[in-house]
Amino acid sequence: MEKSKKPLLLDHSFQQWEWEKVPKYRMEQVRNWIFEKGVLAWDQMSNLPKSLRNDLQEKFDLLPMESVQVQGSSDTTQKVLWKLRDQQFIESVLIRATQGTKGVRASRLTLCVSTQVGCALGCKFCASGLDGLKRNLTTGEIVGQVLLARNEASRRIDNLVFMGMGEPLANLPALLPALDIILSPEGMGIGARHITLSTSGLVPKILELAKYPAQIRLAVSLHGGDDETRRKIMPINDRYPIEDLFRACEQFIEQRKKMITLEYILIQGVNDDLKQAELLAEHAQRLNAKVNLIPYNRVDGLSWERPDLEQINEFYKTVEAGQAPRVTLRMEKGHDIDAACGQLRLREQTINQ
Ligand code: SAH
Ligand code: SF4
Repeated sequence: MEKSKKPLLLDHSFQQWEWEKVPKYRMEQVRNWIFEKGVLAWDQMSNLPKSLRNDLQEKFDLLPMESVQVQGSSDTTQKVLWKLRDQQFIESVLIRATQGTKGVRASRLTLCVSTQVGCALGCKFCASGLDGLKRNLTTGEIVGQVLLARNEASRRIDNLVFMGMGEPLANLPALLPALDIILSPEGMGIGARHITLSTSGLVPKILELAKYPAQIRLAVSLHGGDDETRRKIMPINDRYPIEDLFRACEQFIEQRKKMITLEYILIQGVNDDLKQAELLAEHAQRLNAKVNLIPYNRVDGLSWERPDLEQINEFYKTVEAGQAPRVTLRMEKGHDIDAACGQLRLREQTINQ
Protein backbone atom coordinates (compact mmCIF):
# COMPACT_ATOMS: atom_id res chain seq x y z
CA MET A 1 0.00 0.00 0.00
CA GLU A 2 1.53 3.30 -1.14
CA LYS A 3 1.54 6.25 1.21
CA SER A 4 -0.91 8.79 -0.16
CA LYS A 5 -2.22 12.18 0.77
CA LYS A 6 -5.01 12.31 -1.80
CA PRO A 7 -8.54 12.48 -0.38
CA LEU A 8 -10.25 9.13 -0.06
CA LEU A 9 -13.48 9.04 -2.05
CA LEU A 10 -15.20 6.76 0.47
CA ASP A 11 -14.77 9.36 3.19
CA HIS A 12 -17.70 11.16 1.52
CA SER A 13 -21.16 9.77 0.97
CA PHE A 14 -22.25 9.71 -2.67
CA GLN A 15 -24.86 12.39 -1.95
CA GLN A 16 -21.91 14.68 -1.26
CA TRP A 17 -20.06 13.90 -4.49
CA GLU A 18 -19.81 17.05 -6.56
CA TRP A 19 -17.29 16.77 -9.34
CA GLU A 20 -16.94 19.63 -11.75
CA LYS A 21 -18.42 18.95 -15.15
CA VAL A 22 -19.12 15.31 -14.34
CA PRO A 23 -22.73 14.47 -15.19
CA LYS A 24 -24.90 12.73 -12.62
CA TYR A 25 -25.20 9.51 -14.59
CA ARG A 26 -21.40 9.15 -14.59
CA MET A 27 -21.36 9.47 -10.82
CA GLU A 28 -24.08 6.86 -10.69
CA GLN A 29 -21.83 4.56 -12.75
CA VAL A 30 -19.00 5.09 -10.26
CA ARG A 31 -21.35 4.38 -7.35
CA ASN A 32 -22.48 1.23 -9.08
CA TRP A 33 -18.92 -0.02 -9.62
CA ILE A 34 -18.04 0.58 -5.99
CA PHE A 35 -21.11 -0.57 -4.11
CA GLU A 36 -22.79 -3.06 -6.45
CA LYS A 37 -19.67 -4.64 -7.93
CA GLY A 38 -17.12 -3.97 -5.20
CA VAL A 39 -14.64 -2.49 -7.66
CA LEU A 40 -12.16 -0.14 -6.01
CA ALA A 41 -9.85 0.64 -8.94
CA TRP A 42 -10.47 3.52 -11.36
CA ASP A 43 -8.89 1.70 -14.28
CA GLN A 44 -11.40 -1.16 -14.00
CA MET A 45 -14.42 1.10 -14.48
CA SER A 46 -14.65 0.17 -18.11
CA ASN A 47 -17.80 2.12 -19.02
CA LEU A 48 -16.20 5.46 -18.06
CA PRO A 49 -14.18 7.40 -20.64
CA LYS A 50 -10.45 7.04 -20.10
CA SER A 51 -10.00 10.78 -19.66
CA LEU A 52 -12.55 10.84 -16.83
CA ARG A 53 -10.94 7.85 -15.13
CA ASN A 54 -7.60 9.67 -15.28
CA ASP A 55 -9.10 12.87 -13.89
CA LEU A 56 -10.73 11.05 -11.02
CA GLN A 57 -7.59 9.08 -10.30
CA GLU A 58 -5.67 12.38 -10.00
CA LYS A 59 -8.24 13.67 -7.53
CA PHE A 60 -9.18 10.72 -5.32
CA ASP A 61 -7.89 7.50 -3.84
CA LEU A 62 -10.39 4.66 -4.03
CA LEU A 63 -8.71 1.96 -1.98
CA PRO A 64 -8.71 2.66 1.79
CA MET A 65 -6.65 -0.40 2.67
CA GLU A 66 -5.15 -3.62 1.33
CA SER A 67 -5.46 -7.05 2.81
CA VAL A 68 -1.98 -8.23 3.75
CA GLN A 69 -2.88 -11.46 5.50
CA VAL A 70 -5.93 -13.72 5.80
CA GLN A 71 -5.87 -16.34 8.51
CA GLY A 72 -8.34 -19.16 9.06
CA SER A 73 -10.49 -21.16 6.72
CA SER A 74 -13.18 -19.94 4.37
CA ASP A 75 -15.85 -22.21 5.88
CA THR A 76 -15.54 -21.04 9.49
CA THR A 77 -13.79 -17.94 10.78
CA GLN A 78 -11.27 -15.75 9.00
CA LYS A 79 -9.26 -12.87 10.27
CA VAL A 80 -8.17 -10.27 7.77
CA LEU A 81 -5.23 -7.99 8.49
CA TRP A 82 -5.46 -4.68 6.63
CA LYS A 83 -2.74 -2.19 5.91
CA LEU A 84 -4.04 1.39 5.78
CA ARG A 85 -2.76 4.19 3.56
CA ASP A 86 -0.54 5.53 6.36
CA GLN A 87 0.91 2.04 6.91
CA GLN A 88 -1.02 1.38 10.13
CA PHE A 89 -2.68 -2.00 10.62
CA ILE A 90 -6.18 -3.02 11.65
CA GLU A 91 -8.13 -6.28 11.59
CA SER A 92 -11.64 -7.45 10.73
CA VAL A 93 -13.10 -10.89 11.35
CA LEU A 94 -15.51 -12.87 9.14
CA ILE A 95 -17.59 -15.30 11.18
CA ARG A 96 -19.78 -17.96 9.57
CA ALA A 97 -22.66 -19.67 11.31
CA THR A 98 -25.32 -22.04 10.15
CA GLN A 99 -28.82 -21.15 11.27
CA GLY A 100 -32.27 -22.56 10.80
CA THR A 101 -34.16 -25.70 11.57
CA LYS A 102 -35.07 -28.93 9.80
CA GLY A 103 -33.79 -28.86 6.32
CA VAL A 104 -33.98 -25.08 5.91
CA ARG A 105 -30.47 -24.20 6.92
CA ALA A 106 -28.88 -20.98 5.88
CA SER A 107 -25.34 -19.90 6.33
CA ARG A 108 -25.07 -16.45 7.87
CA LEU A 109 -22.01 -14.27 7.53
CA THR A 110 -21.14 -11.78 10.25
CA LEU A 111 -18.37 -9.24 9.95
CA CYS A 112 -16.66 -7.86 13.05
CA VAL A 113 -15.45 -4.35 12.24
CA SER A 114 -12.75 -2.15 13.81
CA THR A 115 -13.36 1.55 14.44
CA GLN A 116 -9.97 2.75 15.71
CA VAL A 117 -6.29 1.85 15.44
CA GLY A 118 -5.80 0.75 19.06
CA CYS A 119 -8.01 2.06 21.86
CA ALA A 120 -7.58 4.72 24.54
CA LEU A 121 -9.79 3.17 27.19
CA GLY A 122 -7.30 0.64 28.50
CA CYS A 123 -9.55 -2.16 29.78
CA LYS A 124 -7.10 -4.37 31.63
CA PHE A 125 -8.04 -7.63 29.89
CA CYS A 126 -8.18 -6.42 26.28
CA ALA A 127 -5.54 -6.85 23.59
CA SER A 128 -6.73 -3.95 21.45
CA GLY A 129 -5.90 -1.26 23.97
CA LEU A 130 -2.49 -2.56 25.05
CA ASP A 131 -0.57 0.09 23.15
CA GLY A 132 -3.11 2.89 23.57
CA LEU A 133 -4.84 4.74 20.76
CA LYS A 134 -2.96 5.44 17.53
CA ARG A 135 -5.78 7.17 15.72
CA ASN A 136 -9.45 7.06 14.76
CA LEU A 137 -10.42 5.32 11.54
CA THR A 138 -12.00 7.51 8.89
CA THR A 139 -15.46 6.94 7.42
CA GLY A 140 -13.93 5.39 4.31
CA GLU A 141 -11.78 3.02 6.35
CA ILE A 142 -14.85 1.78 8.22
CA VAL A 143 -16.92 1.35 5.04
CA GLY A 144 -13.86 -0.09 3.27
CA GLN A 145 -13.67 -3.01 5.71
CA VAL A 146 -17.23 -3.98 4.79
CA LEU A 147 -16.71 -3.58 1.03
CA LEU A 148 -13.42 -5.42 0.89
CA ALA A 149 -14.46 -8.16 3.32
CA ARG A 150 -17.49 -8.76 1.09
CA ASN A 151 -15.11 -9.17 -1.86
CA GLU A 152 -12.93 -11.48 0.22
CA ALA A 153 -15.94 -13.66 1.09
CA SER A 154 -17.51 -13.42 -2.38
CA ARG A 155 -20.97 -13.13 -0.88
CA ARG A 156 -23.22 -10.68 0.91
CA ILE A 157 -22.61 -9.85 4.54
CA ASP A 158 -25.65 -10.53 6.72
CA ASN A 159 -24.67 -8.98 10.03
CA LEU A 160 -22.21 -6.35 11.19
CA VAL A 161 -20.87 -6.11 14.73
CA PHE A 162 -18.74 -3.16 15.77
CA MET A 163 -16.72 -5.28 18.17
CA GLY A 164 -13.31 -5.19 16.56
CA MET A 165 -10.47 -2.98 17.58
CA GLY A 166 -11.40 0.31 19.25
CA GLU A 167 -14.34 1.99 20.97
CA PRO A 168 -16.99 2.82 18.35
CA LEU A 169 -18.61 5.56 20.42
CA ALA A 170 -15.28 7.37 20.76
CA ASN A 171 -15.33 7.82 16.99
CA LEU A 172 -18.91 8.90 16.24
CA PRO A 173 -17.96 11.70 13.79
CA ALA A 174 -16.54 9.07 11.40
CA LEU A 175 -18.82 6.22 12.40
CA LEU A 176 -22.23 7.87 11.88
CA PRO A 177 -21.53 8.86 8.24
CA ALA A 178 -20.13 5.35 7.71
CA LEU A 179 -23.37 3.88 9.08
CA ASP A 180 -25.34 6.11 6.69
CA ILE A 181 -23.46 4.56 3.75
CA ILE A 182 -23.65 1.02 5.14
CA LEU A 183 -27.41 1.29 5.73
CA SER A 184 -28.30 3.03 2.48
CA PRO A 185 -29.78 0.80 -0.24
CA GLU A 186 -27.50 2.65 -2.67
CA GLY A 187 -24.54 1.84 -0.45
CA MET A 188 -24.09 -1.52 1.29
CA GLY A 189 -27.80 -2.00 1.97
CA ILE A 190 -27.41 -3.75 5.32
CA GLY A 191 -30.51 -3.41 7.54
CA ALA A 192 -30.22 -1.59 10.87
CA ARG A 193 -31.53 -4.63 12.75
CA HIS A 194 -28.49 -6.52 11.52
CA ILE A 195 -26.02 -4.02 12.92
CA THR A 196 -24.79 -4.10 16.53
CA LEU A 197 -22.58 -1.54 18.14
CA SER A 198 -20.71 -2.47 21.29
CA THR A 199 -19.58 0.15 23.81
CA SER A 200 -17.63 0.07 27.02
CA GLY A 201 -20.05 2.71 28.30
CA LEU A 202 -19.31 6.27 27.16
CA VAL A 203 -22.42 7.80 28.72
CA PRO A 204 -22.71 11.09 26.76
CA LYS A 205 -22.12 9.22 23.50
CA ILE A 206 -24.83 6.67 24.28
CA LEU A 207 -27.21 9.63 24.59
CA GLU A 208 -25.93 11.02 21.30
CA LEU A 209 -26.38 7.67 19.58
CA ALA A 210 -29.94 7.47 20.90
CA LYS A 211 -30.75 10.35 18.54
CA TYR A 212 -29.46 8.52 15.46
CA PRO A 213 -32.56 7.68 13.45
CA ALA A 214 -31.82 4.10 12.37
CA GLN A 215 -32.69 1.22 14.69
CA ILE A 216 -29.23 -0.21 15.17
CA ARG A 217 -28.69 -2.49 18.14
CA LEU A 218 -26.67 -1.57 21.21
CA ALA A 219 -24.52 -3.88 23.33
CA VAL A 220 -22.95 -2.61 26.53
CA SER A 221 -19.80 -4.14 27.99
CA LEU A 222 -20.61 -4.50 31.67
CA HIS A 223 -18.16 -7.12 32.96
CA GLY A 224 -18.86 -6.36 36.62
CA GLY A 225 -22.04 -6.40 38.72
CA ASP A 226 -20.91 -3.56 41.00
CA ASP A 227 -18.61 -0.56 40.68
CA GLU A 228 -15.90 -2.13 42.83
CA THR A 229 -15.60 -5.16 40.56
CA ARG A 230 -16.00 -3.27 37.30
CA ARG A 231 -13.46 -0.58 38.06
CA LYS A 232 -10.77 -3.19 38.70
CA ILE A 233 -10.78 -4.10 35.02
CA MET A 234 -12.40 -1.12 33.29
CA PRO A 235 -10.87 2.30 34.09
CA ILE A 236 -13.81 3.95 32.26
CA ASN A 237 -15.97 3.03 35.27
CA ASP A 238 -14.36 5.83 37.30
CA ARG A 239 -15.66 8.35 34.78
CA TYR A 240 -19.04 6.70 34.22
CA PRO A 241 -20.08 4.42 37.09
CA ILE A 242 -22.73 1.75 36.65
CA GLU A 243 -25.71 3.84 37.80
CA ASP A 244 -24.87 6.65 35.31
CA LEU A 245 -24.38 4.05 32.60
CA PHE A 246 -27.76 2.44 33.29
CA ARG A 247 -29.56 5.79 33.29
CA ALA A 248 -28.12 6.43 29.83
CA CYS A 249 -29.18 2.94 28.74
CA GLU A 250 -32.69 3.59 30.02
CA GLN A 251 -32.87 6.76 27.93
CA PHE A 252 -31.59 4.87 24.90
CA ILE A 253 -34.20 2.14 25.41
CA GLU A 254 -36.93 4.70 25.99
CA GLN A 255 -36.16 6.34 22.64
CA ARG A 256 -35.77 3.06 20.77
CA LYS A 257 -38.23 0.65 22.34
CA LYS A 258 -35.62 -2.01 21.62
CA MET A 259 -33.87 -4.44 23.94
CA ILE A 260 -30.20 -3.85 24.53
CA THR A 261 -27.62 -6.51 25.38
CA LEU A 262 -25.39 -6.58 28.42
CA GLU A 263 -22.10 -8.27 27.56
CA TYR A 264 -20.29 -9.94 30.40
CA ILE A 265 -16.93 -11.60 29.98
CA LEU A 266 -16.10 -14.19 32.60
CA ILE A 267 -12.61 -13.89 34.06
CA GLN A 268 -11.49 -16.39 36.65
CA GLY A 269 -11.31 -15.00 40.17
CA VAL A 270 -12.18 -11.48 39.04
CA ASN A 271 -15.88 -11.26 38.19
CA ASP A 272 -17.06 -14.87 38.14
CA ASP A 273 -18.43 -15.37 41.65
CA LEU A 274 -22.12 -16.10 41.93
CA LYS A 275 -22.90 -12.87 43.81
CA GLN A 276 -21.93 -11.09 40.59
CA ALA A 277 -24.26 -13.39 38.66
CA GLU A 278 -27.14 -12.39 40.94
CA LEU A 279 -26.37 -8.71 40.49
CA LEU A 280 -26.13 -9.17 36.74
CA ALA A 281 -29.57 -10.79 36.68
CA GLU A 282 -31.01 -7.89 38.68
CA HIS A 283 -29.52 -5.38 36.26
CA ALA A 284 -30.83 -7.31 33.26
CA GLN A 285 -34.30 -7.33 34.79
CA ARG A 286 -34.21 -3.62 35.51
CA LEU A 287 -33.18 -2.80 31.93
CA ASN A 288 -35.14 -5.65 30.37
CA ALA A 289 -31.86 -6.49 28.65
CA LYS A 290 -30.48 -9.64 27.13
CA VAL A 291 -27.34 -11.00 28.76
CA ASN A 292 -24.48 -12.36 26.71
CA LEU A 293 -21.88 -14.27 28.72
CA ILE A 294 -18.49 -14.57 27.05
CA PRO A 295 -15.84 -16.77 28.65
CA TYR A 296 -12.61 -14.78 28.52
CA ASN A 297 -10.28 -15.40 25.59
CA ARG A 298 -6.66 -15.53 26.66
CA VAL A 299 -4.42 -12.75 25.45
CA ASP A 300 -0.69 -13.32 25.01
CA GLY A 301 1.24 -11.44 27.63
CA LEU A 302 -1.72 -11.00 30.02
CA SER A 303 -2.31 -13.28 32.98
CA TRP A 304 -6.14 -13.35 33.03
CA GLU A 305 -7.76 -16.76 32.63
CA ARG A 306 -11.23 -18.03 31.79
CA PRO A 307 -13.03 -19.88 34.60
CA ASP A 308 -13.38 -23.65 34.31
CA LEU A 309 -16.44 -25.02 32.57
CA GLU A 310 -18.21 -25.92 35.82
CA GLN A 311 -17.96 -22.34 37.12
CA ILE A 312 -19.10 -20.96 33.76
CA ASN A 313 -22.19 -23.19 33.90
CA GLU A 314 -22.95 -22.29 37.51
CA PHE A 315 -22.71 -18.62 36.65
CA TYR A 316 -24.98 -19.09 33.65
CA LYS A 317 -27.58 -20.97 35.72
CA THR A 318 -27.52 -18.32 38.45
CA VAL A 319 -28.18 -15.52 35.95
CA GLU A 320 -31.03 -17.54 34.47
CA ALA A 321 -32.48 -18.37 37.87
CA GLY A 322 -32.36 -14.65 38.69
CA GLN A 323 -35.04 -14.12 36.04
CA ALA A 324 -32.86 -12.31 33.54
CA PRO A 325 -35.06 -11.92 30.43
CA ARG A 326 -32.70 -13.83 28.13
CA VAL A 327 -29.25 -15.28 28.69
CA THR A 328 -26.85 -16.65 26.10
CA LEU A 329 -23.42 -18.11 26.52
CA ARG A 330 -21.13 -17.31 23.64
CA MET A 331 -18.32 -19.72 23.06
CA GLU A 332 -16.15 -17.81 20.65
CA LYS A 333 -15.19 -18.97 17.23
CA GLY A 334 -11.73 -18.23 15.96
CA HIS A 335 -9.67 -19.01 19.05
CA ASP A 336 -7.00 -20.80 17.14
CA ILE A 337 -6.26 -17.72 15.08
CA ASP A 338 -6.66 -15.20 17.93
CA ALA A 339 -9.70 -13.83 16.13
CA ALA A 340 -12.17 -13.98 18.98
CA CYS A 341 -13.54 -10.85 20.63
CA GLY A 342 -10.91 -8.73 22.26
CA GLN A 343 -8.01 -10.55 20.68
CA LEU A 344 -7.45 -8.12 17.85
CA ARG A 345 -4.37 -6.05 18.46
CA LEU A 346 -1.79 -3.85 16.88
CA ARG A 347 0.63 -5.95 14.97
CA GLU A 348 2.92 -3.62 13.11
CA GLN A 349 5.88 -4.78 15.13
CA THR A 350 5.45 -8.33 13.94
CA ILE A 351 4.20 -7.75 10.42
CA ASN A 352 6.13 -4.72 9.32
CA GLN A 353 9.51 -6.42 9.03
N1 SAH B 1 -14.75 -1.14 22.65
C1 SAH B 1 -15.99 -1.79 22.56
C2 SAH B 1 -16.08 -2.77 21.40
C3 SAH B 1 -14.88 -3.64 21.12
S1 SAH B 1 -14.55 -4.97 22.22
C4 SAH B 1 -16.32 -2.47 23.86
O1 SAH B 1 -15.45 -2.55 24.72
O2 SAH B 1 -17.47 -2.88 24.04
C5 SAH B 1 -15.90 -6.11 21.96
C6 SAH B 1 -16.19 -6.97 23.19
O3 SAH B 1 -15.12 -7.88 23.44
C7 SAH B 1 -16.35 -6.15 24.48
O4 SAH B 1 -17.43 -6.65 25.23
C8 SAH B 1 -15.04 -6.43 25.19
O5 SAH B 1 -15.11 -6.19 26.55
C9 SAH B 1 -14.82 -7.88 24.84
N2 SAH B 1 -13.46 -8.37 25.07
C10 SAH B 1 -12.31 -7.65 25.08
N3 SAH B 1 -11.26 -8.48 25.30
C11 SAH B 1 -11.76 -9.72 25.44
C12 SAH B 1 -11.18 -10.99 25.65
N4 SAH B 1 -9.88 -11.15 25.75
N5 SAH B 1 -12.00 -12.06 25.74
C13 SAH B 1 -13.34 -11.91 25.60
N6 SAH B 1 -13.95 -10.75 25.35
C14 SAH B 1 -13.16 -9.65 25.29
FE1 SF4 C 1 -11.15 -0.50 24.15
FE2 SF4 C 1 -13.29 -2.15 24.13
FE3 SF4 C 1 -10.80 -3.10 24.46
FE4 SF4 C 1 -11.92 -1.68 26.42
S1 SF4 C 1 -12.62 -3.68 25.63
S2 SF4 C 1 -9.80 -1.46 25.66
S3 SF4 C 1 -13.07 -0.19 25.24
S4 SF4 C 1 -11.60 -2.12 22.65
